[in-house]
Amino acid sequence: MSELGDGTRVVHAVSGAPGEPFGAQPVFASAYHLGGEDYYGRAGNPTWRALETALGSLEGGECVVFPSGMAAISTLLRSVLSTGDTLVLPSDGYFLTRKFVSEMDVNVVEVPTAGPYPSFEGVRLVLLETPSNPGLDVCDIAELAAAAHEAGALLAVDNTTATPLGQRPIELGADVVVASDTKAVAGHSDVLFGHVTLASAELAERVRSARTVNGAIPGPFETWLALRGLGTLDLRLARQAENAAALYSALSGRVAGLRWPGAPEDPAHLVAAQQMRRFNGVLTFELESAEAVEAFLARSRLVSAATSFGGLHSTADRRAQWGDPVPEGLVRFSAGCEDTRDLVADVSHSLGLD
Ligand SMILES: *Cc1c(COP(=O)(O)O)cnc(C)c1O
Repeated sequence: MSELGDGTRVVHAVSGAPGEPFGAQPVFASAYHLGGEDYYGRAGNPTWRALETALGSLEGGECVVFPSGMAAISTLLRSVLSTGDTLVLPSDGYFLTRKFVSEMDVNVVEVPTAGPYPSFEGVRLVLLETPSNPGLDVCDIAELAAAAHEAGALLAVDNTTATPLGQRPIELGADVVVASDTKAVAGHSDVLFGHVTLASAELAERVRSARTVNGAIPGPFETWLALRGLGTLDLRLARQAENAAALYSALSGRVAGLRWPGAPEDPAHLVAAQQMRRFNGVLTFELESAEAVEAFLARSRLVSAATSFGGLHSTADRRAQWGDPVPEGLVRFSAGCEDTRDLVADVSHSLGLD
């Protein structure tokens, strides 16, 4: 049989076996009768395993879940990097990752996602973010993974924007995927969550053991919410991408700095189309000022100001207010699951384009 489609894969990845409930249920135990797989809630939990199996099967590696994207990223960085190591990091990537490493005793080399990349000689870890946030630039994972491996470095990809359905970095040669599932994977703006997926079982064991020792573990209820969200990821991404494509057409040539890697006109499209399996609902554009963004949000009936993305609701985030090194009027727009016609009409009207 040919490879199953994304909808089939996510629906069945979150289902129980015959005789069990259709969806995995949260198990809240702290202690277990000894003799089975579980013994103590900080070391292991059946609800974690259900989600780890699902995400690991989608991403082609061994998954370890965390209570937030930052818990996943910081645990990976602490597990891989030692004092004096060199880390290559995106300058336009998630700002707290940069803050976290600035407090570690390591050498940090910042590179824009679109490059050019320096030699990776002497580098321990290259962390990419593609598509990047908020600029939506893209880099070639396979090419950079090959260069990293040649220099003896590990390569990790922050896959939050793409999602496990949109991009499989491990198949492209990456050693590690990190992600915030707070965004599209959980998808309902009601839970923080994260995970690390690793190609190497040995490295996975190190990250898993770090989670047990640090004690920053996800709650079973939150894990269950993320698992529940994952089952509809295919449906939600389809509507979000449809909405993003329609917004791109409506705004093209009429607002500055419009970016969506799914559009054939976008400078990142060629590489994105090569390595991404599908696109999503995140776009970026620029209005002339912070006030213009405020006026847009005040006029809109459907778009809310919020600093997350990938949820059911369309949201807009003026990134400069959080300290991203971007123009004052740059908006990261997350197309939600509203009807395309309604959303395009509302955004066009709110921007004064109708
Ligand atoms: C949100 C985000 C994170 C951090 O995730 P949290 O779940 O908020 O801790 C990391 N990387 C990217 C690209 C993100 O968008």
